[in-house]
Amino acid sequence: MTGDTRVVVIGGGYAGVMAANRLTQHGDVRVTLVNPRPDLVHRVRLHQLVGGSHDAVVAFQDVLAERVRLVVDVVTRINAPARSVTLEAGGTLDYDYLIYAVGSGSAEPDLPGAAEFTYAVATLEEAQRLRAALDATPASAPVTVVGAGPTGIETAAELADTGRAVTLVCGGILGPYLHTRGRRSVAKRLA
Ligand SMILES: Cc1cc2nc3c(=O)[nH]c(=O)nc-3n(C[C@H](O)[C@H](O)[C@H](O)COP(=O)(O)OP(=O)(O)OC[C@H]3O[C@@H](n4cnc5c(N)ncnc54)[C@H](O)[C@@H]3O)c2cc1C
Repeated sequence: MTGDTRVVVIGGGYAGVMAANRLTQHGDVRVTLVNPRPDLVHRVRLHQLVGGSHDAVVAFQDVLAERVRLVVDVVTRINAPARSVTLEAGGTLDYDYLIYAVGSGSAEPDLPGAAEFTYAVATLEEAQRLRAALDATPASAPVTVVGAGPTGIETAAELADTGRAVTLVCGGILGPYLHTRGRRSVAKRLA
């Protein structure tokens, strides 16, 4: 990259922040990061938000390099031939390079009843909704966590730590990505 190179980063999660910060090491690069809120959502801590032990947000001013310009907005369109993105609030940003780091969300539930009767924890809003629902539920009410990948295991453990009676339902195998020894250790710890 040479001259005054403009980089726009869409998405201020771990990937977008890391990319933006690293790029500021090049003196000739101007970096603009676009994210819908002025805070980094610590997604790896959303289960802790649900359990009440962490608020899972960090102000961008604490994690973004000084030379990164933050635009709090949503990108609604990428016009690649014109090298420009459109913002929800109006206006456009021109770029020489674009970094697309918009993350992921919950899978669309294909289980009847899931959409109406379950709570997801993939986004800040989802975790906040679950937290509010739990706050409005007696502490003795049983909680069922469906799915025993890392998010399910962490959420079940977090809620059990708060004294909730938790049942973790796995699709046949606990932590399928884990080594057998790790799986045994997780099962023991959860029990
Ligand atoms: C409860 C939980 C626990 C987890 N634990 C772990 C763990 O222990 N270890 C691990 O490695 N991973 C863990 N993960 C997964 C990890 O959080 C994700 O892999 C990671 O957040 C992905 O980072 P990212 O930067 O790609 O996207 P994200 O963190 O999702 O960030 C994307 C950002 O882009 C923004 N965005 C989206 N669309 C637009 C748009 N159009 N315009 C502007 N901005 C936009 C979003 O608002 C968001 O701020 C966990 C996830 C959850 C939910």
